[in-house]
Amino acid sequence: MGKLPRLTEEEVIDAGGRTLLPCLADHHLHLLALAARSESIICGPPEINNEAALADLLKQHDHGDLWFRGVAYHESIAGIIDRHWLDQHLSERPARIQHRGGRLWIINSKGLAILNSTSNKKLPPGLSWDSGHLYDSDAWLRQQLASTPPDLSRTSRELAGLGIGLITDMTPQNDPFIVDFLNSQQQNNNLLQDILIAGQPSLSKLGWQPHSDRLKIGPTKIHLQEANLPDFDEICELIAESHIEDRSVAFHCVTEIELVFALAVLAKTQSINGDRIEHASIVPPHLLQSISELGLAVVTQPNFILERGDQYLKDINFKEIPYLYRGKSFMDQEIRLAGGTDAPFGTANPWLAMQAAVSRCSLGGQVINHSEALTPEQAVSLFLGELQDPTKLRRLEAGAVAHMCLLDRNWHQARQALNNVEVIATWRAGQLIHDSVN
Ligand SMILES: [Zn+2]
Repeated sequence: MGKLPRLTEEEVIDAGGRTLLPCLADHHLHLLALAARSESIICGPPEINNEAALADLLKQHDHGDLWFRGVAYHESIAGIIDRHWLDQHLSERPARIQHRGGRLWIINSKGLAILNSTSNKKLPPGLSWDSGHLYDSDAWLRQQLASTPPDLSRTSRELAGLGIGLITDMTPQNDPFIVDFLNSQQQNNNLLQDILIAGQPSLSKLGWQPHSDRLKIGPTKIHLQEANLPDFDEICELIAESHIEDRSVAFHCVTEIELVFALAVLAKTQSINGDRIEHASIVPPHLLQSISELGLAVVTQPNFILERGDQYLKDINFKEIPYLYRGKSFMDQEIRLAGGTDAPFGTANPWLAMQAAVSRCSLGGQVINHSEALTPEQAVSLFLGELQDPTKLRRLEAGAVAHMCLLDRNWHQARQALNNVEVIATWRAGQLIHDSVN
């Protein structure tokens, strides 16, 4: 919605009044998990909604020797399931099912026996033999299964088809091995997007440098868990070390207590530009002010209103509902706000997330905190930031890098229903990475 003068000999493409925007950035997703998911069986809502349906599904897959890989389990199906529950329904082949939170795998007895034999009995602290629960040990699991990360071609092209040219990967376990892998995926043209990689402190260790300007190291990711909060002083030290290396931190905060903890350590260590809160799912009014005072950015997932809204209304204390996945309040408090989908834990389509930020509507048709609704322009802006500074908007202007996407309709039509928007073409740094016409 602006005018650029034409330079001599510049090619002119007539877009017929359609909308040209800066390409989208997903400021919080998990690329390898998203690619792996296409080879996985969905074991949770909305596809699977009760214990009988899951038991049926597992029975159908209970043959062969290869690992069964299930994802998206949620305790609304059959409570906190363990190896014994899994053995009842899936005993012939090794099996693992991931909780939709992304940190927990539930492994059956056959799977545990294989892991025990391949690991020389060196089992990680996150593994409980009794329950078959494995927490936060994806790197170990990958090693035991001798699995290479999945090829990213298809996933990357699907994301480009949604207008996404820039990605921030927020996986806490990201280490130098993953960075090398992502770099090689870019070099081989499998990964078309530029990427910012958050993750372990080891990513910024002295003497280790990323290899291209299409790949940058992002914040140190600190994944808080209310039931098992880390030592306050240790986290302060971790933040200080990260800040000394000029590296910001990103706190995963989905509960009020996690947020209180994150804000307390950031107040003590002093925040730097780029420090951010991921999710900020529940924010009572007094914490809005603290976030604002500390100058933190919030990276939100409005798609959870759509995808999980009905479940939230059942699970969350009614007093907390007004604090849930806020939008407008952040903007009113001048808190810098950006968006991500958290794919594959959320749906990877940012247009659905934008529409949910506007409509505040769940899949079941319930409107959640309508006073937090954003305008369509604000909703789109959540995905138009720079990778290193997700709240600094990129613009189509002379001299800017040509990160662009062309929508199938004019802006007046697009803003009526962002979830209906199709992306005709996407450019990353002037290179066409998606073209639905040819
Ligand atoms: Zn995430």
